[in-house]
Amino acid sequence: MPEPKHILQPWHLLGRLGLFALLYCASAWLGIRLTPPSDHISAMWPASGVLLTALLQSRRRHWPAIALAAIILEPLATTQGRMPSLTHFTISTGSALEGLAGAFLMRRLASFRPSLERVRDVLSLLSSSALLSTMLAATIGVTALAADGSIAWADWGRQWRVFWVGDAMGILLVAPMLLTWTTRGLEGWSRLRQLELVALLLSLVATVHLVFFWAPAATSVYHPVTYVAFPFLLWAALRFEARGTAAAMLALASVAVSHTLAGSGPFALGPEGHSAGPTASLVFLQSFLAASGASGLLMAAALGERRHAQEKANHLNRELRQSLEELATAQQELVRRERMAALGELSASVAHEVRNPLAVISNSVAALTRLARPEENSPAWELLGVMNEEVARLDHLVHGLLDFARPLRPRLYSQPLATVVDGALEASLRSEPRAHGVQVVRELDPELPEAPLDAQLLHLALSNLFINALQAMPHGGTLRVELGRGEPRQGTPQARIRITDTGIGMTPEVMARLFEPFYTTKAAGTGLGLAIVRRIVEAHQGQVEVHSTAGQGTTFTVFLPLASAARSTA
Ligand code: ADP
Ligand code: MG
Repeated sequence: MPEPKHILQPWHLLGRLGLFALLYCASAWLGIRLTPPSDHISAMWPASGVLLTALLQSRRRHWPAIALAAIILEPLATTQGRMPSLTHFTISTGSALEGLAGAFLMRRLASFRPSLERVRDVLSLLSSSALLSTMLAATIGVTALAADGSIAWADWGRQWRVFWVGDAMGILLVAPMLLTWTTRGLEGWSRLRQLELVALLLSLVATVHLVFFWAPAATSVYHPVTYVAFPFLLWAALRFEARGTAAAMLALASVAVSHTLAGSGPFALGPEGHSAGPTASLVFLQSFLAASGASGLLMAAALGERRHAQEKANHLNRELRQSLEELATAQQELVRRERMAALGELSASVAHEVRNPLAVISNSVAALTRLARPEENSPAWELLGVMNEEVARLDHLVHGLLDFARPLRPRLYSQPLATVVDGALEASLRSEPRAHGVQVVRELDPELPEAPLDAQLLHLALSNLFINALQAMPHGGTLRVELGRGEPRQGTPQARIRITDTGIGMTPEVMARLFEPFYTTKAAGTGLGLAIVRRIVEAHQGQVEVHSTAGQGTTFTVFLPLASAARSTA
C-alpha cells in the first residue's frame, strides 16, 4: 500500500492533529451556515472533504486518532454551545466511517496519489469517496435523525438524498483543493505563472459575480452563468493542472453558493422564474457544480497524463538518438582499428622483404664508391650520390614501416615524464638540420608525479611530434614545450604535454586526415609519424588532440594517465 509523501513524525503529529481540528471545526461550522433555515440537513458539507484529505495524507496507524477527533469535534462544532445529544454523536460517527471507508477504498483500489495527476485518481475520488462512501454517512445520519423524531420517517428518502449530495459536494469541492495544494503547492510554476493563476481566479470570481448580479431574473434555464464558467475552468485545466482547476472550482462554488443562498441568480429561481425554495435551488446549483467540477478535474488529469507521456517519449527519443550516435562512432572506431591492423601486417611483411636487399644495395654502393673512386662532380660521382640518397630515404621508410607495424606491447614503469620529454626534444633538435633558427621554450612542471610509461615508445612518439613541429618552421619560429597536469578523465589524474609551433599550420582538409597512415604533404614524408604517435599514446590509455590555424601554427596536446590504470594495457 503506497504511503503518502508527507510522513508524520511523532512531534509533528500533535501539531497536525491541531490543524486538522481547527479546519474540521471551521468547515463544520460553515456547513451549518449552509443549512437552509427550514431544514435539518446541510446542503453542502465541506467537513467531509477536510476529513478525507486528512486521512489520505496520513499513515494508516494515525487513522484512529483522526477519526476519533472527528467523532468528538463535529457535535461540538455543530451544536454551538448546546449540549450534544446521542443523535449528534451517531451522525458524527457516520461521517468518520464515511471518511475511513473512502480513504481505504481509494488507497486499496486505485493506489491513490493525492496530486490528482492521473485520471484514475480523479475517478477514484469521484466514485469511491464522493459517490459510495457518502451513502454510508447519509444512511446512518438520516436514520438517526428519523429515530429521534427530528424528521419524519416518510421524509427519509428525500432527506437521505440531501445528506448524500451535501457530503458528496463537500468532498468534490474541498478535497481536490486540499489534496493537490498540500502535495505540490506552487511547485513548478514561475512567478509569471503564479500571477496568471491569480488573474484567472480574480476574473472568474468577478465575471460570475457580475453575471449573477446583472443577468435578467427570468432566464433561469438559459442563464449565462451556466456557460460563462466553462472558459475559466478550461483555462485552469489547460494551464494549471489539478491544482488550478480545484482552486477555480472552489472560487466558482463560493460565489455561486453565496448568491444562491442570498436568493439571486438562476439557481434561486425555479424553472418558471418563481422562487424554488432554498433546498431545491441548492440542488440545482449542486448539479451544475458537480458536472463542471468533475469535468474540469478529469480534463486536467487527462491533459497531465498526456503531457507526461509526451515528456517520456521525448526523453526516450533523445536517449535513443544518443545511443545511435555512440554506436556509429564505436563502429567507425572499430573499422579504423581493423584497417590499421591489416595495414600493419602488410607493412611488416613488405618491410621485412625490402630490408635485406636494401642492406645489400647500400653495401654495394659503398663498395662501388671505394673501388671506382670517381672524381668529384663527375657523372659517376653524382650518380653514386643519388643512389646513396635514395637508399637512405628507402631505409627511413622501412624503419617507419617497422615502427608502425611493430606489435605494441608497452612495458609501463613509473618514471618521471620530464626526462622522456627532454630526451626526445634533444634528439629531435640534433637530428633536424633546420632547427637552428628555432627558439625553444620549455615549461616543465617539476612537481608532476611519476607516470606509468614505456620510455622507449614515448620517446619515439614525442620525437615524431617535435620533428613535425620543426619541419613546419623552415624559416624559424618558436617551439614551446609544456608539461603539466591536465583535467582528470573519468577520475584518473592526467599529465598534459603541449607542443606548440609557430609554423605553417594546417588547413581543415589536412586536419581531417593527418592521423591516417601514409598521408603526407611533404615531398620526403612517409605519412607514418602521426599514425605511430596515435598508436603509442592510445597504448598508454592516453589521447592526442590537435589545434591548428593555417599560416599561424599548430598545437599538439598529449594526455597521459598519471595513475596506474594504464598498467593493464596489453
Ligand atoms: P609526415 O611528417 O611524414 O608527413 P606525419 O604523419 O608526421 O607524416 O604528418 C602528417 C601530415 O600532418 C604532415 O604531412 C603535415 O602535413 C601535417 N602536420 C603534422 N604536424 C604538423 C605541424 N606541426 N604543422 C603543420 N602540419 C603538420
Ligand atoms: Mg612526421
